[in-house]
Amino acid sequence: MPELSEILVAERKSDFSSFEVPPQKVTLGVRLLTLVAIIVPLLGVMAAPFFVWGWGFGWTDLGLLLGMYTVSALGITIGFHRLFVHRSFETYVWIKFLWAIFGSMAIQGALFQWVGMHRRHHKFSDRPEDPHTPHHHGKGFLGLLKGFWHAHIGWFFNADPADFEHYIKDLKNIRSLRIANDLFPLWVALSLILPAVLGGIISSSWMGAWTGFIWGGLVRIFLVHHITWSVNSACHLWGMQPYHSDDESRNNIFFGILAMGEGWHNTHHAFPTSVRHGLSWWQIDTSYWVIRMMAFLGLAWNLKLPSKEAQRKERRITAKS
Ligand SMILES: [Zn+2]
Ligand SMILES: [Zn+2]
Repeated sequence: MPELSEILVAERKSDFSSFEVPPQKVTLGVRLLTLVAIIVPLLGVMAAPFFVWGWGFGWTDLGLLLGMYTVSALGITIGFHRLFVHRSFETYVWIKFLWAIFGSMAIQGALFQWVGMHRRHHKFSDRPEDPHTPHHHGKGFLGLLKGFWHAHIGWFFNADPADFEHYIKDLKNIRSLRIANDLFPLWVALSLILPAVLGGIISSSWMGAWTGFIWGGLVRIFLVHHITWSVNSACHLWGMQPYHSDDESRNNIFFGILAMGEGWHNTHHAFPTSVRHGLSWWQIDTSYWVIRMMAFLGLAWNLKLPSKEAQRKERRITAKS
C-alpha cells in the first residue's frame, strides 16, 4: 500500500492498485439541495434576457459579472484544484484560507468534497470507478449523450464512495481548512449577497442590487458551473492527446481559454502535480499566470513543474500539439 501522501498527489492512476468500494446511499435532502444549486442559476440565465443593455444591464453589472467570475473561477482552478488537490505550490495559511473561500463561492460543493472527488478522479481516471468519466455508458450516439450527461451533471447525484475520507485526511488535519470547509453555507450566502450589495451601493438603487444579484450572482454561477464541469465532460471526449496519460483526457483549446487554463487537461493528467497546465508558450493558462504573479510578490513558492526531459519522455510521437 503506498503512503498517503503518494496517493493524495497521485502522479498517474496507473501508479496505484484499484480496490473495491461498496456504494453508499444519498439522502433525499442532499439530492434536493444539489438540484436547487443546479437549477437556480439556470433560472437566473432565463431571467437575464429581460435585463438587456441599458435596461437592467450596464457597466456595473458587466463589472460584477466579470469580477465575480474571475474570483470564483480562480478559486476553483488555483485554490481547490492546483493548491489543495495537487499541492502544486505552497503559500501562507491566510492565503490558503482565502482561496478556500473563493473556491467555495463557485458553489460546487465544500472544499473537502471537491478535493476528495477530484483525487479519486485522478486515481481511477476513465475507469469504471472514476466518479465522473463520460465513458462506460454504452455505445453509439446515445452512449455518448449518456456519458456526457453523467460526467457533466449526473454524477452529483451519486453517493460518495465508502473510502471517501481516505482522500481528504491531510486537509482534515489542518484546523483552518476544517473551519473553511464547515463554513461553506456562509461562503454560498456571501457569493450571492456580495454582488447584490455591491450593485446596490454603486448604483444607489434597489434595481442595481437586483440586477447585480442576477448578473454577478446567478448568471456568473451558471457560467462557472458549466465551464468547470466541461473540463470533466468535454475535456475527456474532444481534443488533442499530446501526452501519454493512461486515460481519455484531452487538450481542448476552447476550455483551455474559458476555464482559465484547466482545459489543457491531457497535459494535466500526464503531469498532475504541475502548477502549469498549458506547458507550451501558446497555451493560455491564466491560472498559472496569476500563480506566477503571486510568486513574484512573494506570496507563493515551491512551484512544481515537469522537467523538459519528463515532458519529452511522456510525449506521444504522432501528436503535434
Ligand atoms: Zn480529468
Ligand atoms: Zn486534477
